[in-house]
Amino acid sequence: MGDHKYEKSFQLEEAIVDGVDISGEWNKMYEPRELTEYDTTYLEKVIGLDGGESMGWCYQCAACIGVCPVDNVGSYGPRKIYRKLQTGLNLFEDKDLWLCTSCNNCLRVCPKEVDMMKIMPAVREQAVLEGNVPDELQEMLQNVAEYGNPMGESARKRVRWAKDMDETFRDLTKEDDPQPVDVLWYVSDYFSYHNRGNDAARAMVRVMNKLNIDFGTLGKEEKCDGDSQRLVGEKGLFEELAEHNDSLFQKYPHKELVVSDPHAYNAFKNFYPKVTGNEYNVKHYTQFLSGKVDELKALYTGEFNKKVTFHDPCYLGRHNGEYEAPRTLINSIPGIEFVEMYRNREQGYCCGGGGGGMWLDGFTADHTTERLSENRIKEAVEVGAEVLVVCCPYEVSRFEDAVKSTNNDENIMVLDIIEIIDSCMQGKVAA
Ligand code: SF4
Ligand code: SF4
Repeated sequence: MGDHKYEKSFQLEEAIVDGVDISGEWNKMYEPRELTEYDTTYLEKVIGLDGGESMGWCYQCAACIGVCPVDNVGSYGPRKIYRKLQTGLNLFEDKDLWLCTSCNNCLRVCPKEVDMMKIMPAVREQAVLEGNVPDELQEMLQNVAEYGNPMGESARKRVRWAKDMDETFRDLTKEDDPQPVDVLWYVSDYFSYHNRGNDAARAMVRVMNKLNIDFGTLGKEEKCDGDSQRLVGEKGLFEELAEHNDSLFQKYPHKELVVSDPHAYNAFKNFYPKVTGNEYNVKHYTQFLSGKVDELKALYTGEFNKKVTFHDPCYLGRHNGEYEAPRTLINSIPGIEFVEMYRNREQGYCCGGGGGGMWLDGFTADHTTERLSENRIKEAVEVGAEVLVVCCPYEVSRFEDAVKSTNNDENIMVLDIIEIIDSCMQGKVAA
């Protein structure tokens, strides 16, 4: 040990070597960090919830942080939430409870299967019961409970989009003795009530008629599918909507149920059966039409000479594994030049509309640097696309707003796949 003079042993709190006090350094290095100093009441409360168990499995590897779309525009992700809970966060009353869009990207990479798609609804359900819900979300929930749609519009107006169309189709609820229909088309809220959704709904009718498909709708009896309401913790409302829509599916016999909305697809395929005990032969419209691609090709009389890219909806892609059907349709369109964005398929970025995000734009803006939809529009522009192609009714409105707010009006437009198919069937040529 040489000639050094130790005045105290290292085991003691002070250490002086050759007259120099180095005890501070040693104490800093070896002082244990006691997590027991923190209040873990809320961590335990989350883990104790039915659905919240997996929060306790996190071992802080951080694989989730790099893929979380919200962390990309702020500070978020399961690892951070777990750490905050460990150090005393009351998630039941915190902003972090409402920022998750349930995009499913963290679960995709998590080695411990920490499942935010179960944790968040479970915690949110408690917050809803206690009335701790952001105002804009509360309003949406009231609208759905009262009117059957998030916009708070009357059921009568649900069919208004079809009013001035030359095309005809079956509204099964208006038939005295409704006979079976081949395809029952669930139109969805945003196709029914949003002006840009209306464009896509009308395009869908024209395409289905050109294909000679016997299809019908549920008219003004159709109600919101409830999937987003389930994810924000309104389990009771979800169950009510499931019972209501299921009663219509049983009442109007059909061979296939085709939906415009990936959220409805997810609900009918994976969550309605748990409530109703019934299974549904359900397809997203891109899946239905991609099975008829040869017939579609024979009907195209125009070209779409534009460079396009495609945004994978979280609830069609990551949640339900469907990446090919939309691409098959896009690639069937004459003249189109298709380019992928950097983040595509299972690594696709989120538009911010899932898990209640659709009605939380103001709230989310206060806690992030930019909207997820804005981040995505910038990526689409960066790959040189003139059109961002979508196939989820939430997305046209979200991305069109983002085009404006990022000053990209001159650079890019947003279209649903069905709108492009329809215009090519009408002989329109885009230059
Ligand atoms: S990937 Fe899973 S285990 Fe790793 S930090 Fe995230 S939640 Fe925790
Ligand atoms: S589900 Fe998506 S938004 Fe939510 S924490 Fe996971 S990666 Fe982030």
